[in-house]
Amino acid sequence: MAAATDVELGPLPKRVTGSCQCGKIAYRVEFPPDHDFKQNNGTCQCTQCRKSTSSLFFLYFKVPYAHLTWTSPSTASLKNYYCTPGMARGFCSECGTFLYWRYENGPHISLAIGTVDPLYLFGEGAENTNGEVPKEGFGRALANCCGAHEWIKNEIKGVTDGMELLQRGERIPES
Ligand SMILES: [Zn+2]
Ligand SMILES: [Zn+2]
Repeated sequence: MAAATDVELGPLPKRVTGSCQCGKIAYRVEFPPDHDFKQNNGTCQCTQCRKSTSSLFFLYFKVPYAHLTWTSPSTASLKNYYCTPGMARGFCSECGTFLYWRYENGPHISLAIGTVDPLYLFGEGAENTNGEVPKEGFGRALANCCGAHEWIKNEIKGVTDGMELLQRGERIPES
């Protein structure tokens, strides 16, 4: 089992782009020069995140909200759903893609890893970027799982409690 300190991230991105399934909502993140890619990467297994993502865990990368730009011509289809007041769960009302979780009074946004464009996630098309994106993309830096794992008290025996990625970093029973 890899301790968080042993995990190799490979090259670190200066920026990434992402979008929802239908493309009506698109974003760009410019990472701060001192961005901690390990600390700002984690998962949540709370029931709200499971329902939002339709998956056993929400894998996110967290960035300062001020470093995110919506690049689509309009964000009209971007809606927030609130399970808890002030805690926004953003999704595209056109295609249903879950995009982020955000405490609205806080400085960060936790973006859903699956919304990152293939170029940045695994390097699809990287041969055309003159080296800006490595052949394998930045998936290891973006989805390293070395930060916090929240709501591990909801782990599923024999399934999520046995995943090596979810053993890295800090394990938080509930939050
Ligand atoms: Zn959409
Ligand atoms: Zn959660």
